[in-house]
Amino acid sequence: FQHLSDVDPEVYDAVRAELGRQQHTLEMIASENFAPVSVLEAQGSVLTNKYAEGYPGKRYYGGCEYVDVTEQLAIDRAKALFGAEHANVQPHSGAQANTAVYFALLDHGDTILGLDLAHGGHLTHGMRINYSGKFLNVVPYHVSPEDGRVDMAEVAALAAEHRPKMIVAGWSAYPRQLDFAKFREIADSVGALLFVDMAHFAGLVAAGLHPSPVPHADIVTTTTHKTLGGPRGGLILAREELGKKINSAVFPGMQGGPLEHVIAAKAVALKIAGSEEFKERQQRTVEGAKILAERLLADDAAKAGVKVLTGGTDVHLVLVDLVDSELTGRDAEDRLHGIGITVNRNAVPNDPRPPMTTSGLRIGTPALATRGFTADDFTEVADIIALALQPEFDAESLAARVKALADKHPLYPGL
Ligand code: PLP
Repeated sequence: FQHLSDVDPEVYDAVRAELGRQQHTLEMIASENFAPVSVLEAQGSVLTNKYAEGYPGKRYYGGCEYVDVTEQLAIDRAKALFGAEHANVQPHSGAQANTAVYFALLDHGDTILGLDLAHGGHLTHGMRINYSGKFLNVVPYHVSPEDGRVDMAEVAALAAEHRPKMIVAGWSAYPRQLDFAKFREIADSVGALLFVDMAHFAGLVAAGLHPSPVPHADIVTTTTHKTLGGPRGGLILAREELGKKINSAVFPGMQGGPLEHVIAAKAVALKIAGSEEFKERQQRTVEGAKILAERLLADDAAKAGVKVLTGGTDVHLVLVDLVDSELTGRDAEDRLHGIGITVNRNAVPNDPRPPMTTSGLRIGTPALATRGFTADDFTEVADIIALALQPEFDAESLAARVKALADKHPLYPGL
């Protein structure tokens, strides 16, 4: 057995280059984070070799005694962390988790309500060519043009009109908290299931900084790699009576052998997510996003046509509206990339520009909080971003300020 650098220098070099990119730039993609070394160790372990179709104690393969331990730990920790009755930790990703939920609880052609993709929803909440949009009858709801917040009156009206079998609540690009109790009330009024996809804000829920959907929803899914800060993967929480259906939809319904190395890493991440250190990190995450929103609401940014959707944030991200700016979302993304800050362009509701260009940016703080950024550091990042979005900007001096912040917070030292 030889090392990667000997066997495949091309892959090795790309992996090293990616490590360097992560170390020397500022990662502000809202759905990204830095998994701790303990998670990387579990994920890169020999557990990848093991076939373990089935569930702990009920496998279709021999030799599962150790992966039973790690998978049971992940299940128990997920249930304890979120106060859930049932957990399935096998979905390979968030999209797989969501598809398994639909597969378990709906039939082709059933009606669901989901937040419109163009208003911050996720592909799996009913986009036309996603599984959800192709096989279900999707009725999209929207954010209100007045305040940019999810229009609960519209949700109630659409529910009454279309009598969906399921209401999906959750988002990929939305800077506020959802009213889960209201969603529950609407779901109950038409006998619908309530499914909450908390992929983006699960870390905030774990830290007690965001209301939990678990007491309100029939099913909750999340990814484990966003604010939760673990390995790339998915997770389903459900009421006990739905557990059997969920389990058989994941396996054998949609997946074969579980990724036991990833599941072990999920167990580690869920342990960390119960710690005081994690809570403190999530506090800095939210604080950083608020600092960024405030800076982008200042006069100089406003004069340059920069606006903040909903006028602020309650979570780990800020949505920047550039409809009135000379910069498109793509220009702004490229500009920030040029000085060492990675973000993604994002369509704003009713975006006049095409999807590949867009008029918005989604900027998140989880990865920098994990890196150790304090309120002062976030104030500096916010200033750099606000200056970079001005018509005239000094790329060289802003790049130097970015480099100083990256140097101040070394990432993965010794890797
Ligand atoms: N659900 C939401 C709300 C998301 O934002 C995402 C990913 O961005 C997913 C599900 C899908 O997760 P994955 O990329 O792991 O399939």
